[in-house]
Amino acid sequence: MAHPQYPHLFTPLDVAHLTLPNRIIMGSMHIGLEEERNGMEALAAFYRERAAGGAGLIVTGGISPNRRGALGPGGARMANRRHARAHETITSAVHEASGRICLQLLHGGRYSYHPFNVAPSAIKAPINRFKPRALSARGVRQTIADFAHAARMAKSAGYDGVEIMGSEGYLINQFIVSRTNKRTDEWGGNFENRTRFPLEIVRSIRATCGDDFVIMYRLSMLDLVEDGSHWEEVVRLAQGIEEAGANIINTGIGWHEARIPTIATLVPRGGFSFVTAKLKGQVSIPLVTTNRFNMPDTCEDALAAGHADLVSMARPFLADPEIVRKAEENEADRINTCIGCNQACLDHIFQRKAASCLVNPRAGRELAMPAQPPLTSNPKRIVVIGGGPAGMSCAYEAARRGHDVQLFEASDRLGGQFNIAQRIPGKTEFQETIRYFSKMLAEHNVEVHLNHRATPESIANAGAEVVVVATGVRPRPLKLPGAERPEVVSYLDVLSGRVEVGQRVAIIGAGGIGFDTADFLSHDADDELGFYKSWGIDKSLESQSGLGKPGNRVTRREIHMFQRSEGKMGANLGKTTGWIHRQTLKQRGVKFHTGVKYELVGEAGLAYKDAQGKLKHLPVDHIVVCAGQTPNNTLHNALRLAGSWELHLIGGAGDARQLDAERAIIEGTELGRSL
Ligand code: FAD
Ligand code: NAP
Ligand code: SF4
Repeated sequence: MAHPQYPHLFTPLDVAHLTLPNRIIMGSMHIGLEEERNGMEALAAFYRERAAGGAGLIVTGGISPNRRGALGPGGARMANRRHARAHETITSAVHEASGRICLQLLHGGRYSYHPFNVAPSAIKAPINRFKPRALSARGVRQTIADFAHAARMAKSAGYDGVEIMGSEGYLINQFIVSRTNKRTDEWGGNFENRTRFPLEIVRSIRATCGDDFVIMYRLSMLDLVEDGSHWEEVVRLAQGIEEAGANIINTGIGWHEARIPTIATLVPRGGFSFVTAKLKGQVSIPLVTTNRFNMPDTCEDALAAGHADLVSMARPFLADPEIVRKAEENEADRINTCIGCNQACLDHIFQRKAASCLVNPRAGRELAMPAQPPLTSNPKRIVVIGGGPAGMSCAYEAARRGHDVQLFEASDRLGGQFNIAQRIPGKTEFQETIRYFSKMLAEHNVEVHLNHRATPESIANAGAEVVVVATGVRPRPLKLPGAERPEVVSYLDVLSGRVEVGQRVAIIGAGGIGFDTADFLSHDADDELGFYKSWGIDKSLESQSGLGKPGNRVTRREIHMFQRSEGKMGANLGKTTGWIHRQTLKQRGVKFHTGVKYELVGEAGLAYKDAQGKLKHLPVDHIVVCAGQTPNNTLHNALRLAGSWELHLIGGAGDARQLDAERAIIEGTELGRSL
């Protein structure tokens, strides 16, 4: 029997009796298509595929109820009938695929990146250069009315409900806490006044949209910033939200300006469900838990432990639109798992590009790249050389087109550099990508030859008509007097365990691999402390905002990192993760040296000139070279001269500049689909 409160959502609505797939929600993600011309068609295709893949309920990316709340200039709004009509494409697509969909209403407040932003008080956010104007009391009332109107428009567009974004430090969250709300009128001051804004929004939406409409409220349960909510306030607000008419409470963890990682790959899987669990029993509506759920077993564990009634996953739906169906059919080993890298999703959004996914380049491009590439009418014998991300993705896609594909890999395993990456503390998720592609290659009958270093002869013997060279990269050697000394080693020697690194270390190069190597060499204290104590998260939730005192993370080694360029260390690291790497290493006592010039390596260690041109000698046991990569393309050069095959070059073997796994997989996927 349908529950009276959620006629559209789940039947039956006694969530405890629902099977896992019905207890998984696809959480809100701004894809960046929302603002693009013809973006609605692309978004409809994106959501349709997820609904068809079993997502019980989808929440859209954040859409503002008015112009001032839009996240950027021209940011998406739901403010009138024209906006509503445009969204009908999305709601029909989802409903046709038997899905349910709620529109997320998000007002950016002081996070809105434009000069017309507003907030409870005129206090600039540390992550925004635009200072907000304080809303007048009339402006506050108008904003509440805008939320209600937007919800009505959403309903008219066919949405099953709305999610009110009350967390992550956006406008509603800014009203709730004294950190950002310094008002002295009825909207600021004591707890009742500060929470009036969210409660009024929920009440107005319920009054405007009626009972036949889902209201999910995303509650900031752990602000992780100074002067945020106390736990008792979180509970009181949750109860108020229920009373005001919400049907479901979703969990929000951490403001965007918090300096504690909440979704990066180093966060343990399901690592914040303990927060939702603490709220269980305090309200009677279903609670959703979130953050770093990426595989069905983690969801099952949290639900079985009674931490929540439902689980929300967002990025995992980018990585695999069929994650829910695969969970339902016990095919977890066929899931293309989100590795929490943020590289192609959130980092893209910060660069004002549409979001996609490092492990699934189709995400957000469903119209341009159909799920199944067309079968070839001319099957060929294809040999792919190299089983890294580029080679694996190419072989997989080519086999799906119906070609006869062989893959030669020189080492004893598939994965290429991902085998090294997954050794970095906090990056074990990278194993999942190797597992996924290995499984797909086996399923599609790709003949994988491990321990096979390809040569022109072995390729000719295989009868190749098409050869794809995906032989990856070689570490760039250090060109310096003394570079041949035994204490000068490559990151590969260190991360593979071939070299036991001494107490005093210099790392040359501060790109992604330099940072990962420094992390690898300095994680001793963090290992003992564990994630929560390293970052100062108070799991008892007794301290305000959940902020505890971080433990002493200082490493036993003396580590120095060098780069020749001036400015910020590791400036090219990911937008949303670079700060985590920098902060981690600083807290561990790693010393950063920028603007240096290397002179030589000798008995006295590393000689270099500092940014002021002063000559220095650093005595060290080892110098680890992380100076970038060069293409490993000798085989390709040889193959150009031998044989009459069609020859292709992809991934690092083609161009090692700015190479990362995102580009390697895109190149592999696109080539595999085009052969
Ligand atoms: P590779 O992964 O290098 O694969 C090439 C394969 O070819 C290898 O398996 C090799 O054995 C094989 N091969 C070579 N010659 C032959 C031959 N003659 N015959 C047969 N096989 C051959 N990227 C990111 O995007 N995000 C990250 O967070 C990230 N972290 C990293 C951390 C570390 C520590 C490292 C080392 C790399 C990291 N990378 C990361 C980089 C990423 O792994 C590479 O960009 C990616 O693996 C390149 O893919 P590829 O297929 O071109 O080459
Ligand atoms: P990289 O990011 O290009 O960094 C190379 C570093 O070496 C730079 O700091 C550069 O700094 C220095 N360097 C370049 N030439 C040098 C030379 N001749 N002598 C001395 N130093 C030199 O390359 P990478 O660190 O090897 O990473 C490879 C790829 O993997 C990158 O695309 C990276 O994005 C990706 N990756 C990503 C992550 C992640 O967390 N997202 C992690 C690991 C790897 P100066 O020129 O200033 O000295
Ligand atoms: Fe997950 Fe990385 Fe894909 Fe984003 S880009 S969805 S974090 S795997």
